[in-house]
Amino acid sequence: MTETTQEVRVRFAPSPTGRLHIGGARTAIDNWAFARSQGGKFILRIEDTDPERSTEENKQVILRAMRWLGLDWDEGPEVGGPFGPYTQMERMGTYAQALETLKAKGAVYPCFCTKEELDAKRAKAEDEEGGYSGYDGTCRGLDPAEAKRRIEAGEPHVWRLAVPEGHGPIEFDDAVYGPMSFPADVMDDLILVRTDGSPTYNFAVVCDDANMAITHVIRGDDHLSNTPRQILIYEALGLPVPTFAHLSMILGPDGKKLSKRHGATSVEEYRDRGYLPDALVNFLALLGWSLDGETTIIPRDVLCSQFSLDRITKKDAIFDEKKLDWMNGVYIREMDAATWYGLSRPWLVQSVATGYCITQTSVVPQANPSDPNAPQPEPVEVTAEALHRAEAFVNANQPLFERIFPQVQERLNRLDEIEGKIDFMFSGANCRLDQKSVTKVLLKEGARAEEILRAVRDVLANEAIPWQCDPLQDACKQLCETLDVKVKMVFQPIRVAIAGNMVSPPLFELVELMERDDVVARLDNVIATVFAAQ
Ligand code: GLU
Repeated sequence: MTETTQEVRVRFAPSPTGRLHIGGARTAIDNWAFARSQGGKFILRIEDTDPERSTEENKQVILRAMRWLGLDWDEGPEVGGPFGPYTQMERMGTYAQALETLKAKGAVYPCFCTKEELDAKRAKAEDEEGGYSGYDGTCRGLDPAEAKRRIEAGEPHVWRLAVPEGHGPIEFDDAVYGPMSFPADVMDDLILVRTDGSPTYNFAVVCDDANMAITHVIRGDDHLSNTPRQILIYEALGLPVPTFAHLSMILGPDGKKLSKRHGATSVEEYRDRGYLPDALVNFLALLGWSLDGETTIIPRDVLCSQFSLDRITKKDAIFDEKKLDWMNGVYIREMDAATWYGLSRPWLVQSVATGYCITQTSVVPQANPSDPNAPQPEPVEVTAEALHRAEAFVNANQPLFERIFPQVQERLNRLDEIEGKIDFMFSGANCRLDQKSVTKVLLKEGARAEEILRAVRDVLANEAIPWQCDPLQDACKQLCETLDVKVKMVFQPIRVAIAGNMVSPPLFELVELMERDDVVARLDNVIATVFAAQ
């Protein structure tokens, strides 16, 4: 088969030793998008040969994160496929078989050096020669008959690859880094199989990639130094070497390798902070790859048709969370209300429950609300009972939330930001009043807020005015004329009295979605408490 007719087969091979991190997700996305753009296959393989650090739970977390990102795999755990099993621990027989092949070719030898011996050699070399250049090949020259005898006697041993003497530089053309060359004479004879019979990472990866007919290995450049070793193993097995593409590192905005210090690093954390899978996939795909150097919003279908290895840069990519927030906002603005409702349910429940649990009826303003030592409002304690009730409410009221969505859509960069924006709608007359807003709007010199709110109260209580945004707003506007005040002087106090804050989503659009009695009760409450406290 020639390059052009061979089906592209790529793999993402996470080790289940932790959650799916941003870097791993970017590698997965590049593999997935490349497979899709080439009409090839995307394979998921679990590399769980480190028994101490691999867990079933981590594996499940990774699979869930992959599904949440929408990175569907053609072969792998749960979906199976013709090259399975797709979990390394279930492939032990294949590594044993490959070892037999290498033994038959004389490409490997058993090494009986103990850990203590090797440690001592390393320490000596570091002291006397200024560095350790790897295994010195002590067992390479062992007489085969003696080696056989020692194995039969049960002496512990590993299997090492005999790096061919006189092997010229190991060369490969990396799809990202370009032509690479590593001298072979500095490679020591690497271990392929450990004393307990388990394969090392390099050996297992080569066996799997070869047996799964992987055509392109796309992975992080932390594996770049493994690649020449893996090529030696391919050569020893007499197998074709795939194309390699190493992806540059992801750095935080401070130029240091992205880590916990920079905040969230796992995909789940991003999910829980209200990011959308489409936005995260778009954002991560652009870490190191570009469509044309300028387009930033790249929907999945475009990514899947246009992704190419030749537009991946070897420059380190900077993870800019502000850009991610902006991009997430773009996706929120493009989504329809039903989708938003479906994805936002956990935060809607939280908002409604918070509204239910607000107990403070009003706030007595401090003399100086900008005083940093002024008491801050207590955080609302949300009870389990309220959450339960809120959940039932959210489930039963999809149409209500779909009507709220257009009012808040422009103001959300993340789904979790809905909290705090609409909880006032569910607090009833207990609506908590922001202290600063009370001082600046209701109690300001010459604000005439009490008089204005009394008039507003009568307008809103008037059953003759339909309970709809425009007629209510018009009726309140008319008050400006009647009372001879500016529009702002009427509308700001209304906002504070109903939403509890001088900043809120469009007010009358939301008021229309509330009950008349509830809104009137809020005005009564403010009139009775705020001004009386003066
Ligand atoms: N299991 C390896 C890792 O998680 C994958 C290495 C590879 O892609 O070859 O880093």
